[in-house]
Amino acid sequence: MNADLHCHSCHSDGLLAPAALALRAARNGVELWALTDHDTLGGLEEARAAAGQAGLQFIDGVEVSVTWQGVTLHIVGLGIDPSNEALDSGLTRVRSGRDARALRMATELEKLGVCNAYENAMRHAGNPSLVGRSHFARVLVEQGYATDVHAVFRNFLVPGRPGHVDHRWTTLAQAVDWIHAAGGVSVIAHPGRYRISGAQIEQLFGEFRAMGGAGIEVVSGSHGEAEMRVFARYARAFGFLASRASDFHAPGESPVDLGMSAPLPEGVEPIWCAPALADRLVCLN
Ligand code: AMP
Ligand code: MN
Ligand code: MN
Ligand code: MN
Repeated sequence: MNADLHCHSCHSDGLLAPAALALRAARNGVELWALTDHDTLGGLEEARAAAGQAGLQFIDGVEVSVTWQGVTLHIVGLGIDPSNEALDSGLTRVRSGRDARALRMATELEKLGVCNAYENAMRHAGNPSLVGRSHFARVLVEQGYATDVHAVFRNFLVPGRPGHVDHRWTTLAQAVDWIHAAGGVSVIAHPGRYRISGAQIEQLFGEFRAMGGAGIEVVSGSHGEAEMRVFARYARAFGFLASRASDFHAPGESPVDLGMSAPLPEGVEPIWCAPALADRLVCLN
């Protein structure tokens, strides 16, 4: 099964419209696809319709921004009901701090000499209420501060580097509650990307499991082979289902294209076999 259960459209910080993503996913051989924009459900209707036309099975998804022990984490919700009021109003609240944060980031970047940082980031933001670091990263590349967005995230916009501002997202418990209230399963996105200790990772996994968290991304566009092996072991140890995801944002920008991730390692149980998802899919495997 070629499943790709995490990617972004222009409703958050991806470059393509949901319908264009569906076509690209189908061309790349994806069979089961989820759109998981940051903190918004705005692209799901278009994605679902386009997925149907392209012959893809579709799962409604979202990637929720969370602050846990002072660190930003991302929790993916899969199989959520996009009309769920608790989830929708929760996400509205999560989004509400982004504009003020963007203004603070712009002030910091302008101190370095970046021109009209806020206006330029907004020009890149397909959805102004979702302005974020990727949009600023594209401005920094445009103005010659870095060769590509990955270089931006090594030198700017991250803790301890210029352009970073503290921001408090929602709590882990709250994000998981919203996802579950909307009938979805929750998954820790790209666990290999967080700058936290091994002890903290285990604490996070333990807390998440106790909240009813279903899975972790074992295969992610931001994991190398070693990380896939490490997180496959963690999945087995904690009883998590394993997700497979490109985290695709844009052609030429994302390291892994839709559907092009490595297969799940042996010995893990795929998240798409979770009853809450599998019951709604036709002809699995
Ligand atoms: P925000 O939600 O505004 O804090 O932006 C987070 C987004 O920045 C992530 O979803 C990625 O799209 C992007 N990002 C963060 N770190 C990196 C990185 N190391 N390389 C590329 N993109 C990154
Ligand atoms: Mn992103
Ligand atoms: Mn993420
Ligand atoms: Mn993502």
